[in-house]
Amino acid sequence: MTWDAVVVGAGPNGLVCANKLIDAGWSVLLLEAQPDVGGAVRSDREVHPEFVHDTFSAFYPLAAVSPTITSFGLEAHGLRWRHAPSVLGHPLPDGDWAVLHRDRDVTAAGFDSRHPGDGDAWLRLCAEWDQIGPHLIGALLSPFPPVRHGLGALAALRKVGGLNYVKTLLTPAAEIGRQRFGGVAPRVLLAGNAAHADIPLDAPGSGLMAMLLCMMGQTVGFPVPEGGAGQLTQALARRLRAKGGQIRTGAEVTRIEVDRGRAVAVRTADGERFGVRRAVVADVHAPTLYTRLLDPADVPARTLSALRSFDLDPATIKVDWALDGLVPWTGAPEHAPGTVHIAASVEEMTVAMTQVRAGVVPADPFMLTGQMTTSDPTRSPAGTESFWAYTHVPQVVTSDAGDGSVRGAWDRDDCERLADRMQARLESAAPGFGSKVLARRVLGPRELEARDANLVGGALNGGTAQLHQQLVFRPVPGLGRAETPIRGLFLGSASAHPGGGVHGACGSNAARAALLHARVGRAIPDPVRRALGRD
Ligand SMILES: Cc1cc2nc3c(=O)[nH]c(=O)nc-3n(C[C@H](O)[C@H](O)[C@H](O)COP(=O)(O)OP(=O)(O)OC[C@H]3O[C@@H](n4cnc5c(N)ncnc54)[C@H](O)[C@@H]3O)c2cc1C
Repeated sequence: MTWDAVVVGAGPNGLVCANKLIDAGWSVLLLEAQPDVGGAVRSDREVHPEFVHDTFSAFYPLAAVSPTITSFGLEAHGLRWRHAPSVLGHPLPDGDWAVLHRDRDVTAAGFDSRHPGDGDAWLRLCAEWDQIGPHLIGALLSPFPPVRHGLGALAALRKVGGLNYVKTLLTPAAEIGRQRFGGVAPRVLLAGNAAHADIPLDAPGSGLMAMLLCMMGQTVGFPVPEGGAGQLTQALARRLRAKGGQIRTGAEVTRIEVDRGRAVAVRTADGERFGVRRAVVADVHAPTLYTRLLDPADVPARTLSALRSFDLDPATIKVDWALDGLVPWTGAPEHAPGTVHIAASVEEMTVAMTQVRAGVVPADPFMLTGQMTTSDPTRSPAGTESFWAYTHVPQVVTSDAGDGSVRGAWDRDDCERLADRMQARLESAAPGFGSKVLARRVLGPRELEARDANLVGGALNGGTAQLHQQLVFRPVPGLGRAETPIRGLFLGSASAHPGGGVHGACGSNAARAALLHARVGRAIPDPVRRALGRD
């Protein structure tokens, strides 16, 4: 059978793309290599049968602000969002906590109690974001260049200080914290949120990431799907099927066939061939698409050459625990947070991120953690906690700044030694943590990639989020949109603009591009395509 569109990969981007194409009346087949849909948005009961753990991602503020995902009405397909009592917490060395609450006044009061004046400074930052933030989010989640939202942002800039505010957005996260606040609490919250991406805390771009996540935490919170992360992607899959889309799991695509410069079919590992009338959309890691799924003879030499400098983001070690009780945090805050960051200071986070970039395994890894039963009581029996932590490690290890026990082979032994180091950090912030552990699972770079081929080397964002690989440089210079050099083939994964995170924008942009090209593509003369650098 021939399909209007075949989407390769059922991560959130592939699912969003398939839903948009089915809404446009196309026949859509979604092919997924793994036994289930979801990509890095899945959950399981492997750690302990009574506990649901999110295998990869866990908190979804970007889905909550995504115009595409919210437009799908997923609540009608079984999705229900839950929230922890507070969004995010960061235990401080003096036993107190920095806490981001959905109510900005509560956040500000906490900052003010530690350092008078920081509360007002926080509310000023929030008021500026109110003016410009929605335009920036709209621009980020639109195809590049974001004309409509870009103009909106330009208009809003005047209200928040014009070029001075542009400078704020370009200021590194660590510096924004120093310039605006006297106390440590807002500084660690800004820096910790910036560290969700791999942009150095002393580099431009980290400040924007810090503000984006902190402010979203106060507008939409960091919601989680009731029952597990996988409920988000299951709802997307249910919607697609209800509208007539077809999904095949256990179907690894091994070749995209190209005829006279146009994608015409895909083949799976078991030899099946699916013809395509209008578009193939690849929710696939960009280098894999161009070097493995396509015959290199079908790819322009300059694209293959540019891909040689494609920059991966760091590897990841994720640890899941089933806990027989709540995490025994020292000085646990009044409103329990869903997300908890572990680092002694902004300086320690900066050092850890610099070490990872330099190939060194940190002695004091910066950790993101999640209290999932606190966020959604359905995850495990009452009084217990489904808990996780992850940290980044280098893609290529040259040394270990810790006790030397981690060699960087990322075999079972290496992964368990790093998990021990992570657990020791938790033990010092939460004495007695180890005595609550019923079961533990450690997923290193190899295990992550085996469960989702897009997580190459345990990189979770489809390529670095640093400025040199964003916008028109993502995935390679000149290919900043979903279009590829092959007609009828579109890149819809996190390797495309705007990158990692569960916002569905990469998939949505690919669907828009496919629909547009189907309407007008043939009308664009070849010389114009060449001038655009896409042929
Ligand atoms: C440990 C971890 C924690 C994270 N935490 C968060 C978080 O809390 N919040 C957040 O917003 N983001 C988070 N992220 C990032 C987010 O999950 C990803 O950016 C997002 O899932 C990317 O979506 P995607 O559809 O592009 O790719 P993926 O989710 O990676 O899905 C790609 C899919 O394509 C399939 N596939 C690949 N190749 C083929 C092939 N040849 N044939 C068929 N199928 C194929 C894969 O099996 C997979 O199912 C996290 C990621 C990880 C790994």
